[in-house]
Amino acid sequence: MTKKIHIKTYGCQMNVYDSDRMQDLMNSVGYENSDNVDDSDIVIINTCHIREKASEKLFSDLGRIKPYKEKMHENGKQMIVAVAGCVAQAEGQEIFKRSNVVDIIVGPESYQTLPDLVGKVIRDKSRQINLDFKPNNKFDTLPLNKAGVGASAFVTVQEGCDKFCSFCVVPYTRGAEYSRDVKKVLYEINGLVDKGVSEIYLLGQNVNAYHGIGYDNNPTNLARLIEEIAKIPEIKRIRYTTSHPLDMNDDLINAHRDIEKLMPFLHLPIQSGSNSVLKAMNRKHSRQDYFKIIEKLRKVRPDMGLSSDFIVGFPNESEKDFYDTIDLVEKIGFTQCYSFKYSPRQGTPSADSNNQVAENIKDERLAILQKLLTNQQIEFNLKFEKTTMPVLFEKEAPKSNKKSKDKNQYEKTEILGKTQIWGKSPWLQSVVVELKHDEDGAQIINKIKNVEIIKSRPSSLMAKLIKD
Ligand code: SF4
Repeated sequence: MTKKIHIKTYGCQMNVYDSDRMQDLMNSVGYENSDNVDDSDIVIINTCHIREKASEKLFSDLGRIKPYKEKMHENGKQMIVAVAGCVAQAEGQEIFKRSNVVDIIVGPESYQTLPDLVGKVIRDKSRQINLDFKPNNKFDTLPLNKAGVGASAFVTVQEGCDKFCSFCVVPYTRGAEYSRDVKKVLYEINGLVDKGVSEIYLLGQNVNAYHGIGYDNNPTNLARLIEEIAKIPEIKRIRYTTSHPLDMNDDLINAHRDIEKLMPFLHLPIQSGSNSVLKAMNRKHSRQDYFKIIEKLRKVRPDMGLSSDFIVGFPNESEKDFYDTIDLVEKIGFTQCYSFKYSPRQGTPSADSNNQVAENIKDERLAILQKLLTNQQIEFNLKFEKTTMPVLFEKEAPKSNKKSKDKNQYEKTEILGKTQIWGKSPWLQSVVVELKHDEDGAQIINKIKNVEIIKSRPSSLMAKLIKD
């Protein structure tokens, strides 16, 4: 009987990519993917340490898995439970101490050893842990990326971080910066192209610090890597995330002018608009540096859409510091952003500060910032009404809308019997077209089609197809 694997993923696109690769790996040794925990032979929780209360969430997941594992055991079967990702790396053996459900602890740089660890659990009836940092070994050992069944695929090109921002655990959980060789990245992308992928999303904790070995055997930068990818005719769109302002060099900025396939959208976290907070965060750049980068970008690509991350209520953040952030947001104008209240992460320097900002002040500041960011997003989307744009369509939007509490919307969709197809604009907005009765979704899925925007919403655009 085929064995089954179920993976629950927390966190960013890099974790999604890692989960896909773990699936590919276990598929290659005979395991089939399953949406259910209850009958899976292997259950993996791929954790994210950036999330607030990350380890509490892990242990409550483990508590929910326990009865299923016990039931499998009663039926004479074995369920192997693995904890992967950054919480696994950060907490290590502690996880074994706190939960007897867990059989395997595996770090984000060592999950290529999963089949071996699973084998040892079955054979030796012992718990296994691997927290090695060997990204080179990892990428060389993994089977070919099979995730490319749609139009768009993630490809990790860089991992780890040498920046040591004072609030962040990544340098401790993902290790030093590592970049994959150009030819290995291109090999993976060509494999995805064979499966119909036309958009590549290059991933890295510091993707623009990319310095992989190029075809001339010397380290090369992200702009040159993008140039090589753009030469593949089947690849129509290229994106990259997440970037650091320090590594935003002129080559990469100019690539937004020179490489048509590079989309006019950049996620460039600044975290705060205050120089004193940036210094305390150990960000190694100032607000003036950020303004200079944006000015250069807008000079070469005036329609550039910008996104950022913000942390409010960092230790010692004064009201003036906070309003420096508001001032920066007003001056730059963002298209979509992520903003959070500061919460200490164990083991990071800023967690020990005695000058934590009170929760109610953090709440107030976050509400002010988010209101401004939402208004900017609404304004940005509004500008596209009655304009045309090319959209890469990816899939059918859920018809039954089962997860929505809005029953009226569900009934309306069903009564009208219309199919909605979801895609992405060059600026990463969600775009939805409603097909007419005589139109077939298969004609546009995985294709780039021109649309006219008929209505903008805060986080999406409604559109109609323009006939070819
Ligand atoms: S640059 Fe800073 S926030 Fe980003 S991964 Fe590195 S340490 Fe974390």
